[in-house]
Amino acid sequence: MLQKLLHTLIEKKKLPNVLFLDSYSLADTTISAYNLISHLHCLSPIKNRSCGSCRDCLLLEKWEHPYLLLLLPVNQEIYKKRKVRFFWKKFWKKQVFSLTEWEEILEKNNLTIGVEQVREVSEQLIKYETSSKPIVIWTWLPENLHHAAGNALLKSVEEADGNTFFFLSQHQK
Ligand SMILES: [Zn+2]
Repeated sequence: MLQKLLHTLIEKKKLPNVLFLDSYSLADTTISAYNLISHLHCLSPIKNRSCGSCRDCLLLEKWEHPYLLLLLPVNQEIYKKRKVRFFWKKFWKKQVFSLTEWEEILEKNNLTIGVEQVREVSEQLIKYETSSKPIVIWTWLPENLHHAAGNALLKSVEEADGNTFFFLSQHQK
């Protein structure tokens, strides 16, 4: 139901700028976030949903939409600029959405969301400042934000304009 309400708010251009999405299923929150993000970006939504075939929908489907910025837990030592999307595409393809699997992956690979990642997102936001398109920053499993990264993200939230949306997907234990 909440999902439906959020889509209506997108339609009315009244979606809150910060959105916490959590449920007992990581798969559910991930899919919900994806549906909301595609609706926000879609050029010609149909019945409160994204059309799935416009340029923006197709870019999103390939995880190449420039106005979707991902903050995912990654290994900070091997983290390099363009790798985040690469990690994500891999997980998305494998549909590794169970929390047990994730907890194992996170722990084994020492994954966090580092301050460098948040800084890059903030820099990108400055570049997009004059754009009229909605920009989404999707933080996945925010409980893995490094302390300094969390503070940097808060600062971005404070400085963002009405066209910037922060999605935080977490799992409820
Ligand atoms: Zn579309």
